[in-house]
Amino acid sequence: MIVDVPIHCLSCGTLLVQKIPAGEDRLRGVCPECGKIHYCNPKMVVGTLIEQDDQILLCRRAIEPAVGLWTPPAGFLEMNESMAEGAARETLEEALADVEIIRPFARVDLIRIGQVHEMFLARLRDPQVGAGEESLEVKWFCWSEIPWPDLAFPVIEWILRLRMADLQAQQEQYHCGSLRWKEVGSPMSLDNYDLGDLQSLRLKV
Ligand SMILES: [Zn+2]
Repeated sequence: MIVDVPIHCLSCGTLLVQKIPAGEDRLRGVCPECGKIHYCNPKMVVGTLIEQDDQILLCRRAIEPAVGLWTPPAGFLEMNESMAEGAARETLEEALADVEIIRPFARVDLIRIGQVHEMFLARLRDPQVGAGEESLEVKWFCWSEIPWPDLAFPVIEWILRLRMADLQAQQEQYHCGSLRWKEVGSPMSLDNYDLGDLQSLRLKV
């Protein structure tokens, strides 16, 4: 797993030691001075799929990781907001788009990097869109023209493929699944993940 872990105590600044606290079963960063235990847990990423006239809005990333590659607007959930609010905020920041959230579309656990992604379907409240500070450009893509080799992350490819399949089948579903890297091949390729626990729940519309 790849996560940032604190080296110094977040309360008093002392260098942490790695130890298994009493009653637990794994190493944690523990402060030898004040005793604070530093838990590392997955982070939430929230974003939107904005559809209009058989097209979807993608942003070309201006920041690392995956600078220059395409993704729907998405980013880390902040304190004091719901997932839907966070998704709308990220969409405003990255695509200068004022959106109304329609419904959750997919939840994906990214086991290797300790993230959980929740992607929502959304529609524009105002037709105007543009590149925010973290985007080089934003562009509408027909489903037949999605830049598959230039998508930013495997989770994005998976979510877009699920949405495209639903639209082609004229069905509405909510998808839950995990990206488990097979530990061979590039972790940037969707081909190298086990997607076997996907659950797709059919919605009444
Ligand atoms: Zn401390």
